Amino acid sequence: MFILLLGAPGAGKGTQGKLLAERLGLPKITTGDLLRAAVAARTQLGREAKEYMDQGKLVPDALILELIKDELAKPAAAGGAILDGFPRTAPQAELVDRTLAERGQRLNHILLLDVSDDELVRRMHKRAGLEGRSDDTPETIRTRLQVYQRDTAPLIAHYAQRGNVHHVPATGTIDEIATEIKRIIGR
Ligand code: ADP
Repeated sequence: MFILLLGAPGAGKGTQGKLLAERLGLPKITTGDLLRAAVAARTQLGREAKEYMDQGKLVPDALILELIKDELAKPAAAGGAILDGFPRTAPQAELVDRTLAERGQRLNHILLLDVSDDELVRRMHKRAGLEGRSDDTPETIRTRLQVYQRDTAPLIAHYAQRGNVHHVPATGTIDEIATEIKRIIGR
């Protein structure tokens, strides 16, 4: 089963994705974590990605598409995965759709975590204090929300055409949201 978590930065994709992956025994593929690991390890990808991440901009598809291809090709993801943080652009969505279709698979559930902009900003500022992520500064937070609206939000319409997008109100407690997700996917 492939489950895609969509939503603005700060919507709680990471938190809910982790719970979902543990509960369903599926791997969680998180491009943000993979990129941060690449930056920490100073790989070629990490060095190129860092400047975009620090500015709150998307890392170019030329760098991301290969990463996504590799992750989906891993044996652990053969039967399913939780996708967190990608696809984030139309070309990324095409790659995911095509890769799964070639394997006779598809995105079974697309969960859109809905949170108001005010709440997103509040959460990211709070996280900045707790985790010290270098891209949680006021300026990059604003950029990331704009980039989400411009590049990623249009994917909602792309997936909505197929009719399997579920809106999850994501302002309750972590437990309440997890329960709602469980209800939606039926397990
Ligand atoms: P958030 O959703 O909270 O902004 P992420 O951890 O998903 O955080 O991403 C952090 C940064 O990593 C993004 O701002 C972007 O620069 C980069 N990034 C992560 N995933 C992708 C992706 N699929 N395509 C392009 N850039 C990405």
